[in-house]
Amino acid sequence: MSPRGWAVLTLAGLVLALAVAAAVLIPWQRPPAPRADQLAALRDLPAEQVARGREFRAALRPGGWAALAIGLLVALGLGLTPLGSRLVELAGRPLGGHWAAQAVLGGLAVVLVADLVTLPFAAWRHAVLTRYGLATNGWGGWAVDLLKSYAVSAVIGAVALLGFYSVIRLAPRWWWALGAAGAAGLVVLLSFVLPVLVEPVFNRFTPMEPGPLRTQLTDLAARDGVPVRDVLVADASRRTRAVNAYVSGLGPTRRIVVYDTLLREATPAEVTAVVAHELGHAKDRDVAVGTLTGALGAAAAVVALYLLGSSGPLLRLAGVDSVAQPRAFPMLVALVTVAGLLSAPAQALMSRRVEARADAHALALTGDPAAFEAMQRRLAGINLADPDPPRLEYLYSASHPSTVERIAAARAYARKTGR
Ligand SMILES: [Zn+2]
Repeated sequence: MSPRGWAVLTLAGLVLALAVAAAVLIPWQRPPAPRADQLAALRDLPAEQVARGREFRAALRPGGWAALAIGLLVALGLGLTPLGSRLVELAGRPLGGHWAAQAVLGGLAVVLVADLVTLPFAAWRHAVLTRYGLATNGWGGWAVDLLKSYAVSAVIGAVALLGFYSVIRLAPRWWWALGAAGAAGLVVLLSFVLPVLVEPVFNRFTPMEPGPLRTQLTDLAARDGVPVRDVLVADASRRTRAVNAYVSGLGPTRRIVVYDTLLREATPAEVTAVVAHELGHAKDRDVAVGTLTGALGAAAAVVALYLLGSSGPLLRLAGVDSVAQPRAFPMLVALVTVAGLLSAPAQALMSRRVEARADAHALALTGDPAAFEAMQRRLAGINLADPDPPRLEYLYSASHPSTVERIAAARAYARKTGR
């Protein structure tokens, strides 16, 4: 069989593995609470809070959709016309057009252009956040964050680009197989190292101060059977008033992080509800599951890019001879951008189901639906959430159940258990 035949077979296998992983590991049997219960929860929220959340989200919306549209247009403009391949050539020229220079500098130039065209929308977003009092970092802090994230992306991007195009040169016929394995490996590696190498670039993390709350939280983790070395506090208040918590990392780098803003704003019972939700993620190994599906997806993407990228019409549009050239990189970016936009609703749906399971875990672990509901109100109030966002937007991009869904789920739990 030809390498192409093997690639088709490999892609079929990867897609099947991804489908099986999604079917088995995502808690599909957890549909949202009935709509009537959600509407009842919505009526119980302060009208002023709901209105302010909706006003804020409406202010963000035009810039958000415009950034998406312009980002897509630029990716297509660079990838499906000869413009992108010329940019790659141009970027590699100072180093004599060497393939490695084209691969790294050209690749980064393409990504940078795509970032720069959406920069005005990012600035708009920051202006809205500032106007509504959510952002606390000012334009200086915003610019520093931006430069840091460019620097981090440039380092990771340079390593990935150099690795990818080295593999292509070493194995011109089988690079897609090595590239797929490399992409999967990179996803796993990043999941391990991001919490210890990248997150500290943006925030300082300190162990939670000893006290009754810390004891309560570590007891909760022990009762849950989740080995948690520490609860870390992030200095999120340096850039936002928003409250949040998350779990990241794998194995030795796994950690539960709460924002300092959460500790400042929420009651101990509410913080406990938040941490119980994060313990749910840890217990169900949601980071590991996300890493596994991400690795399978990345491997499938490389093989699919090899197959799609070898198509004559696409190559002609991009003005290149082969998908294996660094000059074809903008075409790959265009394909990845389209795939990302198309798969966003499925990713959001899976994320919402996983988040709903973590909510159920929090309710069962704390047995305190009242605190859970209070926590949801507080989260929505401070973060200026729309408690019941527009349907299309929710389906396209909501990573979490809506506030009214989460409150309705807490009330259903309270009814069921008589609490
Ligand atoms: Zn969560």
